[in-house]
Amino acid sequence: MKKIAIIGGGISGLYLANIFNNHPEFDYKIFEEREKFNFINGYGIQLSVNSIKLLNKIGFKNLPASELCFPSKVNFFQSSNSSKICDIDLSQFNDNLNRYTTIKRSTLLKFLLESIPKDKIKFNINLTHLDYGNYIKAHFSNNSQENFDFLIIADGIFSKSKFIVSKESSKPKYNNSIALRAKLNEYDDNNISIFMGANFHYVIYPVNQNNEYNFVAIFKKNLTHEELNSQKIYQSETFLSCLKKILKKNSNIKFENLSQIKAFPVFVSSSIPSINQKNTFLSGDALFAFSPSFAQGASHSIETAQDIFQSIFSGSDNLYKSRINKVYKINWRSKLNHFAFHLSNPINILIRNITLKYLSKNKKFLDSYLGRIYRN
Ligand SMILES: Cc1cc2nc3c(=O)[nH]c(=O)nc-3n(C[C@H](O)[C@H](O)[C@H](O)COP(=O)(O)OP(=O)(O)OC[C@H]3O[C@@H](n4cnc5c(N)ncnc54)[C@H](O)[C@@H]3O)c2cc1C
Repeated sequence: MKKIAIIGGGISGLYLANIFNNHPEFDYKIFEEREKFNFINGYGIQLSVNSIKLLNKIGFKNLPASELCFPSKVNFFQSSNSSKICDIDLSQFNDNLNRYTTIKRSTLLKFLLESIPKDKIKFNINLTHLDYGNYIKAHFSNNSQENFDFLIIADGIFSKSKFIVSKESSKPKYNNSIALRAKLNEYDDNNISIFMGANFHYVIYPVNQNNEYNFVAIFKKNLTHEELNSQKIYQSETFLSCLKKILKKNSNIKFENLSQIKAFPVFVSSSIPSINQKNTFLSGDALFAFSPSFAQGASHSIETAQDIFQSIFSGSDNLYKSRINKVYKINWRSKLNHFAFHLSNPINILIRNITLKYLSKNKKFLDSYLGRIYRN
């Protein structure tokens, strides 16, 4: 029986554990830094059909329909006056079984956790160092050590473990933007809405059939080194009211309808780390984290995990290597979206809106820009 260590119990690590559950020839353990899982209830996540196909194979399709939403369109609006620019039909990428889905992040995590036996997860533990020989000898923060055949590092964007396997890994960089997430009540739209303003945009989508909505705004913002290192300022009233002021002036959002407001700086990866250690893989954000403007982070985390499983199962890491190509494709799309959503010059905005209207109905473009990511 092959022994697998999974470092990090986020979307990627938990999805991988679900696949190994269906293959008794593998014995896995998850090592999670936190003391316990603490699922924040309000926030949402978008899952395109590429990851829905994989999730459905492990039973996601059996979740109660009331816990999910299947938006068929993305509507684009000018934030200042809420006028609609155009829409993209998302359903063209669906098939009978797999549909673009929005959901509460907590619902997804609870689903992934459901079939993982409790004794498979070790909490409050970190990887400290590794010895490579016939096996991978992993040393942990509680002074324990264990031999594994395979090591999967899935500890998120601020992965410490990847520096243990590759000294060349680079730290994530600040994306010059702040995210403000909240739960939105009193809204009524089954689709995804993207409101574009000068140097900011915000996205609203339903997370279930109970009129609960996710609100996420991304603001362009330069921060000093001190500000970046201070966790407290993001939750300070002064900082939040500065972001709220921008929204108040340039959008129709009603603040009394937002709850569980949380602001945080957005970090992205600057390069893909090369790992040359035997039987060692990076998954999800630990491999690469994108700007959130293309909503592919979770799908990428699930797809990488699937490729890692296939590589281990088949004994060839070709699939894992070909994932790198997809990372490049998603990354430039995420950057382009971010750039286009935040334009501030009125002439550039006019050109963007005309281009968007044309491209949103151009099948060839959509097949290439979205289809190549969603259909893979
Ligand atoms: C504002 C914003 C909005 C987003 N919206 C979307 C969206 O709509 N759709 C989408 O697809 N993606 C979205 N994403 C991205 C998505 O959330 C991430 O890409 C995804 O959660 C990454 O999954 P992961 O498993 O790689 O990492 P994580 O989910 O971050 O999990 C990492 C796990 O590892 C644990 N850990 C950390 N360090 C250690 C350690 N040293 N040892 C052991 N365990 C450790 C953590 O506690 C955590 O449990 C968004 C991101 C942002 C910032």
